[in-house]
Amino acid sequence: MGTPKTFAIRTFGCQMNEHDSERLAGLMVADGLVPAEKDSIADVVIFNTCTIRENADLRLYSALGELKDYKKAHPEMQIAVGGCMAQKDRDDILRRANWVDVVFGTHNLTSAPGLLKKALTDGPQIEILDAPDPEAHKDMAPALYAVRELPFAAWVTIQTGCDNTCAYCIVPSVRGVEVSRLVEDIMQEATMLAASGVTEITVLGQNVNSYGRDITGRSPLFSDLLRELGTIDGIERIRFTSPHPKDFRDDTIRAMLETKAVCNQLHLPLQSGSNRVLSSMRRGYTIERYMEKLNAARAAIDDLAITTDIIVGFPGETEAEFEETLAAVAEAHFDAAYTFIFSAREGTRAAEMQSEFIEDEIVAERFDRLKEVLNRSALEKHQARVGNTEEVLVEGPSRRNDQVLSGRTRQGKLVHFPVTNEPVRAGSLVTVKLLKAAPYHLKGELVSVLRAPKHKVRIPLHVS
Ligand code: SF4
Repeated sequence: MGTPKTFAIRTFGCQMNEHDSERLAGLMVADGLVPAEKDSIADVVIFNTCTIRENADLRLYSALGELKDYKKAHPEMQIAVGGCMAQKDRDDILRRANWVDVVFGTHNLTSAPGLLKKALTDGPQIEILDAPDPEAHKDMAPALYAVRELPFAAWVTIQTGCDNTCAYCIVPSVRGVEVSRLVEDIMQEATMLAASGVTEITVLGQNVNSYGRDITGRSPLFSDLLRELGTIDGIERIRFTSPHPKDFRDDTIRAMLETKAVCNQLHLPLQSGSNRVLSSMRRGYTIERYMEKLNAARAAIDDLAITTDIIVGFPGETEAEFEETLAAVAEAHFDAAYTFIFSAREGTRAAEMQSEFIEDEIVAERFDRLKEVLNRSALEKHQARVGNTEEVLVEGPSRRNDQVLSGRTRQGKLVHFPVTNEPVRAGSLVTVKLLKAAPYHLKGELVSVLRAPKHKVRIPLHVS
């Protein structure tokens, strides 16, 4: 047997893409390849691309450009491009970078290994499906042999695509309409993950609250699904992202409350505090409705952490409208927020609103003001926890100091604490006394080890 080929995956974009990359890695390993050493050039390089983030195409083509000479000198090396940009640009990618071997779309990630093999004999391969094939539910099963960053925590995709039409978003056109996986398939996957020692799952979908609508043709099944997942032995923590505020309902709040494993954390994307901007964004809710839902969740669920997404500088946003966002953010008192500067995505309605684009300096100044309010609120939230002893799932040594361990509380808060004589490995559940607060993390000291990691070996990587 010769030396196995190596592979590397470069991921641009959101959690859905990161999860797809884990699945791709699982497929590569199942095909006999091994991950390349850091800083080496792999035999197979896959770019999993995104169209959501700014300058996505610049980033992709400059990364491809960096490999051009190497590929010329080593023609046996293979380059593949998948994900949302591939779905959108299709054969343009080969026109602009003819040293690419394979282009595959968002609906046929599992074709990648076969296409790479075919390209070795038949030359460049492009395969883009316009919609998920009817076997899509089964297609998502390779998550079972995904190569995950944390062996004790896993994403579980419950749905792909999106039926909404948010004016700034390219997702519906590159990921297609909502397709829900069957409850049985999701349960089977989560049960197998638990059996392999996974203790935390994050349920993933573009609009989790409408999960199942395409299966039943009527009410969504999300709250039922949460309850079902909560019955799996070994799954101690369940998170989900993202619910859409317009579809976030009392039954989900009740399911969160009644399902012990569901964490007291909610990500509820606000995007803007102005009703006119929300309407122009086509978000389908008003700030009043949003606050009602947020307050209902807070009133029902004890010690609930709420995070959000906000876009600054949507076309036409006036100073007064931006101030409405500041006021909403102050009122909501978020635990944390992902903030984005509006940037037009070709093919979206917002990209056609050029006459209303806002000057960069104005947007940058608004962005800084928003960050200030958000950081203040995040710090206050963290300060209020100082003195508590909280349960932390350990992720491993901190990035900056291997004498410090990092982990997350049930609220999803990042906690750092110094290594002690007590052996604590990644995946352990511990309690930590919180001593110091900063806007993005807390610091503390180890109190006790509740349990050792449950995972022993990685999930089997073979495909039968
Ligand atoms: S809900 Fe809106 S922002 Fe989210 S994926 Fe769908 S269209 Fe995009």
